[in-house]
Amino acid sequence: METTPAGPRRQEPIAVRARYVFPVSSEPIEGAYVVVRDGRIVDVCTTRPGVDRVIDLDDSLLLPALVNGHAHLEFSDRTEPIGCPRMPFVDWIRAVVGERRSHDRSGRSSAHAIRIRGLAECRASGTAVIGEIATRPWPESADECGDDPAPIVVFREILGADPAAIGALRSVAADHLAGRLPADWIAGLSPHAPYTVGLSLVEDLCRMAATRNAPVAMHIAESPEEGMFLRDRSGPFRTLLEELGAWHPEAWRGGIRAIDYLRALAIADRALVIHGNFLERDEIEFISERRDRISVVHCPRTHAFFGWSAHPVRAMHARGIRVALGTDSRASNPDLSLFADARRLVHRCPDLSPKVVLRMATLHGAEALGRGSRWGSIERGKRALFARIRMSERHRAADPHALIWESEGAASLFDPSRAT
Ligand SMILES: [Zn+2]
Repeated sequence: METTPAGPRRQEPIAVRARYVFPVSSEPIEGAYVVVRDGRIVDVCTTRPGVDRVIDLDDSLLLPALVNGHAHLEFSDRTEPIGCPRMPFVDWIRAVVGERRSHDRSGRSSAHAIRIRGLAECRASGTAVIGEIATRPWPESADECGDDPAPIVVFREILGADPAAIGALRSVAADHLAGRLPADWIAGLSPHAPYTVGLSLVEDLCRMAATRNAPVAMHIAESPEEGMFLRDRSGPFRTLLEELGAWHPEAWRGGIRAIDYLRALAIADRALVIHGNFLERDEIEFISERRDRISVVHCPRTHAFFGWSAHPVRAMHARGIRVALGTDSRASNPDLSLFADARRLVHRCPDLSPKVVLRMATLHGAEALGRGSRWGSIERGKRALFARIRMSERHRAADPHALIWESEGAASLFDPSRAT
């Protein structure tokens, strides 16, 4: 059961007026009022409602709180990405493994504290729901995140292909799905990537997720080297796995492609394909045919960090695929502002309309994560948490959506019940 964020005492309704309100589910409205009560939206109207308190945000655009479809908050203590821009992807993975190992040894800060720091950064930049990949249990108790205002979908990362360890990995996944999380949070599974988890274990995990109606997220087709490895078990990933003592020939038979992993994900009730940078035409078609259950998460600034060729986001959108946006982590992105990632997409893909990108940054993410009934748009019954963008000047535009991305302002989270 969902809790009322404002607590059990019934509050007086509050109206918020903004220069533009962007419901996402319908066209933007100039000078509209959003009426909220007990943490929920109760009305959106164009004339002043009969309430005692009106918060006037005439200098601001009001959006639904943003949704970050893919994050690894455990890197949130980094001040800059690992490695350098355009470095070979496998070298970056090698550096991440080294970083994780030294981090584990030094124990310089608890994983929980680092995640809380990342969570605060997401909240400060207008993000509500987050699809988080967790390499260890989090939170360790249901009350650890205090009064944080929005849910997290915690995908427990499963990584490894040693046949002797498969039983233990399955237990980690089962324990996570059976564990307790704070109210509104969702438990999911994340087999890491095709070059670290064999196909049969991914199929097992997706069957396990399906029995609990849990979502699955997996990095797929992130680099061209991944396709080489799956095809004939060769290339830099094979070298890396051998270096790390993680090469297990039984796990990868060769002669497979990303689509084989997509077929495994299709076993789950809800799946998120993370990145999908190098998916081929038939693979995009496969997702399109199952677009009610399989979404893609594009991480624009991480994509740029590696200097990949253009993402097939336009082809996916044209095929009706739900594309959400993610920040990925501070290991490949300078910060955790989903708004900054969306703005980059608008500027780099002018043939994707500002309106479409707004939907990707909000409703698509909420639906991909299974939270579309409560988040992602400004509609009656949805949660009253917003992304606010202050405008420095009274710009006008033929399409109000353009104002969102053209403004110099940053997004921040706005909770009317806490506004003074
Ligand atoms: Zn990732």
